[in-house]
This record gives sequence, C-alpha cells and structure tokens, in this order.
Amino acid sequence: MNPKKREQIFAYWKAANPSPKTELRYNSPFELLISVLLSAQATDISVNNATKGLYAEANTPAKMLGLGEARVRHHIRTIGLFNTKAKNVIKTCQILHDQHDGVVPDNRESLEALPGVGRKTANVVLNTAFRQIAMAVDTHIFRVSNRTGLAPGKDVVEVEQKLLKFVPADYLLDAHHWLILHGRYVCVARKPKCGDCGIADLCEFKQKTTAEPTGKNTASSKNKRKKRVSAIRSTRSRSLGSISTGSSSLGSRSSGDSLTGISSSGSSSPGNSSSRSSQSSGSSAKTKKKVQRKKLANKVLLADSKRIDVKTQLADKKQSAAKLVLVDKKKTGGKLKPSNKKR
Ligand code: SF4
Repeated sequence: MNPKKREQIFAYWKAANPSPKTELRYNSPFELLISVLLSAQATDISVNNATKGLYAEANTPAKMLGLGEARVRHHIRTIGLFNTKAKNVIKTCQILHDQHDGVVPDNRESLEALPGVGRKTANVVLNTAFRQIAMAVDTHIFRVSNRTGLAPGKDVVEVEQKLLKFVPADYLLDAHHWLILHGRYVCVARKPKCGDCGIADLCEFKQKTTAEPTGKNTASSKNKRKKRVSAIRSTRSRSLGSISTGSSSLGSRSSGDSLTGISSSGSSSPGNSSSRSSQSSGSSAKTKKKVQRKKLANKVLLADSKRIDVKTQLADKKQSAAKLVLVDKKKTGGKLKPSNKKR
C-alpha cells in the first residue's frame, strides 16, 4: 500500500472518530492494568461487568492484597481462566506494592516483568494510560493490517513493527484504537462488512464481500441515510403542495381522502394510477366501495318504492271491486251471482 492511501485511511478514521477510546472501563493506570490483564480471551463487556464490583472494593494494589485471592476469584468468576488470572492479579499487586510503591511503572521492561503481563498488555498500558507511542497488536489489528495491506506480516511482532514504521506520524498515538474498533465492528473475522466499510475503496483485500450495506457503524452510511431522509421529506412536501393547489380538481373528494393519497413518488393526482402508492390505491378503493354501496342502497330504495306502488294499486283495485259488489247487492236485493253473470 502506498503512503497516500495510508494517509487517507487514517484521515477517514480520525474524521469519523476524532478521540477513540478503549472500551474497558477504568479510573487509574492500576485499574487499566488489571482490566487488560483480565481481558485475555475475554470480551471487554465481560471484564467491565466483573471489575465493577472488584474496583468498588479494591482499586489499589494494597487494597487488592487485603481483599485476598479467594475474593478476587469470586469477583472475576464469570471470566475465562479466572483461577490463573486471580493468582496473577495478587502476584502483580504484591510486586507493585513491594517494588514500585504501589504505582504502575511507565516502562516496558518493568511492565513485562509483572505476572500475566505480556508485550501486548504492556503496549496497551503504555499507549492508553501513559500516552506513549506503542502498537498493541491483537487479533483484530493483525487481521485488519493484513487484509487492508496497511502492514502485512506473518506474526504480531512483524505487524507491530510495520505499523510503527508505516502509520503516518500524526495518527500513531491513536492508531491502535482505530484499528481495533474497525476490526471489532466492521472488518470482522468471518464475513467483513465491506458494504458498510468507509475505507473499502482504499482497502487492498482481494476477497471483499459483496453484501448490501446494512447501514450500521460507518460515518458514510450515516450520511447516506441522512440524504435519503431529506430526499423523502422534500418529496413529501412537494406532494402536499401539489395536493393543496390541485384540490379543486378533486371535486367532492374530502381533504382526508386527498392526504391519504400522497405517494412517495410525489404524484397525488388520482389519474396517475401507475405511480400511486399502495396507501393511495387503498384509499381510492375504499372510496369506490363507498360509491358502490350508495348506488346499491339507491337501487333498493327504488325497488322498494316500486313494490309499494304495486301494492297500493292492487289495494285500490280490491277496494273498487268491493264497492262494485256492494252496489250490485243493493240493486239485486242480495242476489249477487245472477246479476253478475248477466252483466
Ligand atoms: S473493505 Fe472489507 S476487507 Fe477491506 S477493510 Fe473494509 S471490511 Fe475489511
């Protein structure tokens, strides 16, 4: 990878996260040292959960020694290798108490002499607690350095040396955090999220994934999301404007019907059925049904009124027929049949 690309990658990370921090919780170099010691083969979250209670009881080497190994073991029992780690914590505290006046040393040699403290732990403490330029190459940094081409190497020492050599001077102090965070959340081990990666165009990894962006974790995806939201908003406001100006052409349509007819494509005209949204088509279908129901009700009323007319006519005919019979009775003196036959 050429220096220009390296510069661009770190410039991107700095712009996205100007002050990167470790995710381990600590209030002093001593707490940081113990947390890093406990974090081997454990997640930062599990370490933070365990140390919350531990540091509440003992936040200095002397207090930790007073607490004792059994109690330390109890506090960190949820972390892997807790038996060995509890022993190392007590031994480290004993050395800090006896040889360093209870103060964490700020040099590699003294740090690496502590039980359970290796090169990586020493680098984290030197870089994070004492703000010295150091590159603690863990599994994430090793992977990102090799995949991107930033500092390819066969082992952690080679990667560490290359990073110290190739990372632009302005970014050396925080490079460790940016690399870890990128490896932990974007350039993950099994399937890197290349679709969400802000440095994808600079990365030299040949097997980049082609998955669609999930819209998480990157500054660029946040910008894309913002643009999409503002585009949708402006489209909606345009749609509302066209509805208000074109309301007269909607005739007897109610304002509620007009609003539900807004589509994301900006077309509010009832005539543009091809571009109408599902919401709009649902609304017009309801209106159609209403009209159909009204027509049906009118038909029923009409049919009812016709039936009433027919009944009335029949009743009138019966009445007039009865009247005729009555008249005939009076004329014939009760003999209806002969007179009816005659007529
Ligand atoms: S493009 Fe893919 S492989 Fe390269 S750094 Fe980004 S996530 Fe990792």
